[in-house]
Amino acid sequence: MCGIVGYLGKRDCTEVLMDGLEKLEYRGYDSAGIAVFENGSIKTVKTRGKLSCMREKLSKEGSPKGFCGIGHTRWATHGEPSDINSHPHSNGRVTIVHNGIIENYTELKAFLTEKGYTFVSQTDSEVAACLLDYYYSERNPLKAITETMKELEGSFALGILFKDFPDRVYAVRKQSPLIVGEGEGEYFIASDIPAFLKYTKNYVLLEDNEIVCMKSSGTSYFDVHGIPIKKEKQVAEWDVEQAQKCGFPHFMLKEIHEQPDVVNKTLEDIVKDGVPDFSERGISDELLKNVGRVFIVACGTAMHAGIIAKYAIEKLARVPVTVEVASEFRYMEPIVGENDLVILISQSGETADTKAGLELAKEKGAKTLAVVNVKYSAIARAADMCIHTLAGPEIAVASTKAYMVQITVMYLLAFRFAFARGKISLEELKKLTEELMLSPKAISDVIERKGECQFIASRLVNVEKLFFIGRGFDYALSLEGSLKLKEITYIHSEAYAAGELKHGTISLIEDNIPVITVATQENILAKTISNMEEVKARGAYIIALCRKGTEFSENTVDLRFDIDTELPDMLVPLPTVCALQLIAYYTSVLRGNDPDKPRNLAKSVTTE
Ligand code: GLU
Repeated sequence: MCGIVGYLGKRDCTEVLMDGLEKLEYRGYDSAGIAVFENGSIKTVKTRGKLSCMREKLSKEGSPKGFCGIGHTRWATHGEPSDINSHPHSNGRVTIVHNGIIENYTELKAFLTEKGYTFVSQTDSEVAACLLDYYYSERNPLKAITETMKELEGSFALGILFKDFPDRVYAVRKQSPLIVGEGEGEYFIASDIPAFLKYTKNYVLLEDNEIVCMKSSGTSYFDVHGIPIKKEKQVAEWDVEQAQKCGFPHFMLKEIHEQPDVVNKTLEDIVKDGVPDFSERGISDELLKNVGRVFIVACGTAMHAGIIAKYAIEKLARVPVTVEVASEFRYMEPIVGENDLVILISQSGETADTKAGLELAKEKGAKTLAVVNVKYSAIARAADMCIHTLAGPEIAVASTKAYMVQITVMYLLAFRFAFARGKISLEELKKLTEELMLSPKAISDVIERKGECQFIASRLVNVEKLFFIGRGFDYALSLEGSLKLKEITYIHSEAYAAGELKHGTISLIEDNIPVITVATQENILAKTISNMEEVKARGAYIIALCRKGTEFSENTVDLRFDIDTELPDMLVPLPTVCALQLIAYYTSVLRGNDPDKPRNLAKSVTTE
């Protein structure tokens, strides 16, 4: 949620901040703002709306000229998106940008009001600026920060400017991500690496309750008590290219096109001598053999990847797998014990509910495994074991390539699980792995036929509602296809297990309602076809995603997309989901939406 940036160096600060915010806009985009030291005093420009509105405002009102400042792109949690509620917020001698939620802001506001402070915004964030000012005395910013941290509850990453120090940026974090970029004589703070990748690949990860002070002479780090600490530098593996559109009209389309490549990379990373090998990651056969039950805890698209994983692991390894929505898991007193494996799937590795699920699982003594796309993220670091997916930076809000590598990893894990538990032989393990190696080509083939997906989208562009149905793996895909479509087209869509439709929902089927049927699984094809016919008889317009050669009775299907691949049924979700992503993408574009920045959503959900 929201993006924070900060800069201190020799470049035009406004340009660096705006450039960084652009890279972070996927994290929140209902308002934006910057604060820059200009000739010794802070100049703030902020506005409701996307960054383009901010650019407009800057060109109208003039850009602050300076070398030190902070910036923010907001995803409102407290107070509507408005100019006043946009960050940065100033109070007294302090200006801040904030990512997260100050949970005790009501109490703090009452306390500070009593002390004579007044507030102009409805945000929780403004109390942080006030409190910092309250504790700021004897020109000692560090003391103000450490005292403030004792009082703030909730999650926060703060970028802070003190009026008396026009050549310093301070920052602190607790449960919201914050990274410090260390270039040659220039320093950055950001919620995510792409914000400064253009300038430096060297970065330092700020841990919870750590503080950084950036000055022209360098950076210093402190713990929660203000004691200096040493931090290790890391070098980013991502490059600038990966964080740019490279000629594609949208990041989402670019990221869909990257899928064959990132699946390949993931396979190369995990497959050794023709079989998946997780031993370097601490996941031994012994461990997999002795696991009692598996829980997969995740949110949104990552949770849907978990459902694919459940079907694959249960089918092959015969271990019971429960998939839990993280926000439910954390509060429902789950029956999880030492013998269980809890797998946390998260693109960002910062998803607040998933992280809380991880902490709960650890408390209960379960083994924990993170499957995350961002190395060194909070979930990656806190779990006992970690598989780092190699999707590279995913900028579009609606996840595509990260989901694709999540399911690739989970298939590989399912194979190894089955082998470790003696359910398949080494030969069978090799064969399954070999088959999975064919998936990048199958995904590429679907991408080449994107024109057909565009045609399907043209049939959906004006509809108000539609349904997705499927059974087994096809049901898991229906859930994901429907979510993708809802996220970026705003069409009301529901996904149903095909056999469940007649237990209520079929009452909603009327003339010409599109029903996208995913029907790729041979073992239940006849059953799915019956369900298609049931809705066809009630006037539905049927769009079928099926394997090439699948036969339906005459007039059942109005439009079809054939998946032409040698992959076994269990692995057909890989190319099939790509077709669903493309259908959602083109429908969104045809409806005039921006698929990269759907309304009301933000990418890495660091609030509950
Ligand atoms: N809670 C703050 C607000 O509503 C920050 C939200 C964010 O992380 O963007 O302004």
